[in-house]
Amino acid sequence: MICARCDEPLREGDDFDEQSVDGASGPGITIYRHRQPCRPAVPRQTAPAPLRR
Ligand SMILES: [Zn+2]
Repeated sequence: MICARCDEPLREGDDFDEQSVDGASGPGITIYRHRQPCRPAVPRQTAPAPLRR
């Protein structure tokens, strides 16, 4: 299981919240989040290739 907020794996024994998300069609998914506040994962930023004109 991976925490949906910080992207870190949840370990057995950790407190976490479970949330079911219904899919518009088809089966829903279950996401997990640490119960204690955790840092959101920093989105990777790759330098965009410079556009040439
Ligand atoms: Zn987390």
